[in-house]
Amino acid sequence: MADVLIVEDDRIISELIRRTLSMTGHEGLTAYTGREALSVLDKEKVDLILMDIGLPDMDGFSLMKRCLEDYAEIPVICVTEKDEIPDRIRGLKGGAEDYIVKPFAMEELLARIQVVLRRFHKEQLVYRIRDLEIDLAGGVVKRSGLPVELTNREYMLFKTLLLNKNIALSRERLLELAWGRSRWYMGGSCITIPGRKKGRRQCVSFGKQICTVPISLCMLLFTHHLPDAG
Ligand code: CA
Repeated sequence: MADVLIVEDDRIISELIRRTLSMTGHEGLTAYTGREALSVLDKEKVDLILMDIGLPDMDGFSLMKRCLEDYAEIPVICVTEKDEIPDRIRGLKGGAEDYIVKPFAMEELLARIQVVLRRFHKEQLVYRIRDLEIDLAGGVVKRSGLPVELTNREYMLFKTLLLNKNIALSRERLLELAWGRSRWYMGGSCITIPGRKKGRRQCVSFGKQICTVPISLCMLLFTHHLPDAG
């Protein structure tokens, strides 16, 4: 997965992002000032920069300009305050690949990071979970080397859980992220499509790797840390 430099002076937000990245297999490097960010970039391998525009020691746009000049291969996602539309436009015109507005949902942040990593060919494409292999490039899921038959919707749902592993997603959020709202029913470790085919309920079981969180019957959690791609 990716090494993400989090440039954020709010330590609580920074830590929240770092933990979320860690839970989903990314590595979060932190910098609380512009100077610290430049120091990290000088010493560490970084795949993507998540940059808060409001920094204590340096204008975020100046920092972004410098990053893009010296580290052109590293994409930047800028983080702006709510309703600061000029900042978003300025960020994108200044070379940011994307922006995200505070406050944001972690699923949205992960989705944006995923898209930018894909654009820069830094995305992890093959995941392995025990005997399962998921090839995101080919859209193929295999178990013990044999293809698992999934519908497009089942695949999108599985992919969404995979990319948000260890994060509890509400039923509504899951439906939104996977493909837009629909009339699916999800429960326990099964994903079912009532009435998709007369007399048949398609059930894709992943055992305890997908589970319902007790806070709400509608919450799902992908519980297992995944090994690195091999
Ligand atoms: Ca700030």
